[in-house]
Amino acid sequence: MKRYIYADNAATTKLDSEAFEAMIPWLTDCYGNPSVPYSFSRSSRKAISDARETIAKCINAKSDEIFFTSGGTESDNWALKGITQYETENVDSSVRSTVITSLIEHHAILNSCKSLERLGYPIAYLPVTNEGLIEPITLSTIISGSTKLVSIMLANNEIGTIQPIKQLAEIAHKNGAYFHTDAVQAVGRISIDVKELNIDLLSASAHKFHGPKGIGFLYIRNGTNILPYADGGAQEKGFRAGTENVASIVGMAVALNNGCAEIQAETARLNMLSEKFIEEINQAGTDFIINGNQCKRLPGSINISLRQQNAEMLLHRLDLKGIFISTGAACDSKETKVSHVLEAINVPSDYAEGTIRITFGKDNTTDDAISIAKAIVSIIGDRNH
Ligand code: PLP
Repeated sequence: MKRYIYADNAATTKLDSEAFEAMIPWLTDCYGNPSVPYSFSRSSRKAISDARETIAKCINAKSDEIFFTSGGTESDNWALKGITQYETENVDSSVRSTVITSLIEHHAILNSCKSLERLGYPIAYLPVTNEGLIEPITLSTIISGSTKLVSIMLANNEIGTIQPIKQLAEIAHKNGAYFHTDAVQAVGRISIDVKELNIDLLSASAHKFHGPKGIGFLYIRNGTNILPYADGGAQEKGFRAGTENVASIVGMAVALNNGCAEIQAETARLNMLSEKFIEEINQAGTDFIINGNQCKRLPGSINISLRQQNAEMLLHRLDLKGIFISTGAACDSKETKVSHVLEAINVPSDYAEGTIRITFGKDNTTDDAISIAKAIVSIIGDRNH
């Protein structure tokens, strides 16, 4: 019997045991600073270079297009600010080019945009359909010659919807803009080929694919004009200065390589867990809707809204039973706040406050899916009587 059921893999994931093993030497005996030329540091340098190559292969990039960062938030900030401000600094100091993004991005993007807006950069926010998808035609009608960057997430962190990135990138390029995607939720969970998608920048974060926390990367296509993120030493070709986190870089590469090797088998298995869960709560006659497109979504990612329920209460009751999932609505002292994503997809008001997110991962079983559904049904039943 498990002590608990963790089904919040979109929030973070358990560290892959092979990744952990691979990290140990770099936290203990092999502590040489990779930037120093003596032989003691040679192995650290090689470990970083091998990891860069492994990661590049996983997304079909070149190894010199991978830049290590502290995670998704930093990668997103760098992409947005580095691209827009490059032009202002290097081409024309009066230029403030437009950025186009969407209403359902993660706050790492939305708040970077707010910060750019304060500096005078115009930002346009694309709406989504009620299924959480961005229609390429919407981008086509809004984009213009003054757009420098289009940033659209690959997969949404709340509802799991996967956007038509290739078509969107094509529209951006036709109009002379760069294309960035926040792929934090997608990397290691679905196959990604940056050349096939024809994108210029991609953000990733290791803790979402069973790597360590506090490490990630930004893919920057060769030839892209971008400002460095941090000034200092010559690390990351002078674009992101600071002594490298060798152990985490190594752990991230192992986790991603393992994750990518399992994508095909895991996709089928995780989809089956989602089906089992839905089947179980359906059978109990629960009144709910599923949010987001049901086909174009991350495997194992479920977002449902239960009619006239309170998600926070449900979360606490599940917590008492040792079940960990997430909500799409949070209470402050006065009212329940529905997330910006649920607002953008127009979840009906009598359902929105009862929104929960379940994200299965590699440690979840069919029993977990059924137990979570049964627990939800039982809590709702208690409340209704
Ligand atoms: N972007 C998306 C879509 C995310 O889901 C997250 C984390 O939840 C982030 C960015 C931020 O990543 P990190 O936690 O590595 O800073």
